[in-house]
Amino acid sequence: MSNTDFVLAVEDLTVSFDGFKAIDALTLYVDKNELRVIIGPNGAGKTTLLDLICGKTRASAGSIKFKNAEMSRLPEYQIVRSGIGRKFQTPSIYENLSVFQNLEVSFPRGRGVFGALAFKRDDEVRDAVQSVAAEIGLADQLQLEAGLLSHGQKQWLEIGMLLMQDPELLMLDEPIAGMSVRERELTAELLKRICKGRSMIVIEHDMEFVKQIAHKVTVMHQGKILAEGSMEQVQADPRVIDVYLGH
Ligand code: ADP
Ligand code: MG
Repeated sequence: MSNTDFVLAVEDLTVSFDGFKAIDALTLYVDKNELRVIIGPNGAGKTTLLDLICGKTRASAGSIKFKNAEMSRLPEYQIVRSGIGRKFQTPSIYENLSVFQNLEVSFPRGRGVFGALAFKRDDEVRDAVQSVAAEIGLADQLQLEAGLLSHGQKQWLEIGMLLMQDPELLMLDEPIAGMSVRERELTAELLKRICKGRSMIVIEHDMEFVKQIAHKVTVMHQGKILAEGSMEQVQADPRVIDVYLGH
């Protein structure tokens, strides 16, 4: 396909595990500045789709274009460098380091100034840490050991670690799992804030949460797209009610 304005263009993507097609000729386009939510029953292939986009799993067929560049044969670190950040279901932060240090180690190397101007880089990193900490609501916890944060705060910290790389596409797999009601509300606000100026793909089950954040919803089922549209459209779709919402 020729160049498009989409940030992400996934076309005819397929991956088989021992003959089982976890993703089956799937086509999906994500716009610039869009917050897309993907829903669907367990085993639908949602996590596998993110694994393919970030290069953790290799496609059997099809294409994944990010800003018109083919990603599907690049190693994971090059996909990250291209501007795709991905959060896994379980938080992977450094529990023994402070919040500040967790954010600091996530600042991309090879950016900014070097050598004799290293002190300038320190300033740059510190500024970035402080602005991300404010964004994720942890500005007052910078010196705290990350292991002492609440479950929700740990999730926010991990999102912050991704924000340090300033990705143009940020993908989050079930970010509010295990969170309290209040933490869920704060996370919805957080996601709406951080999607300014970037695109996001969020996998989530909580329909109240989805309603709050989604620009558009994609429903997956058996490795394929079952429905796509506004929250109202997919909620009213009998096929979606049948395989997912009805349960
Ligand atoms: P979801 O995130 O929608 O719940 P997954 O993407 O985790 O679904 O899984 C989709 C299907 O692919 C499941 O049947 C799962 O068992 C299978 N699957 C995922 N990853 C692998 C793998 N690495 N090897 C074999 N099967 C896998
Ligand atoms: Mg999953």
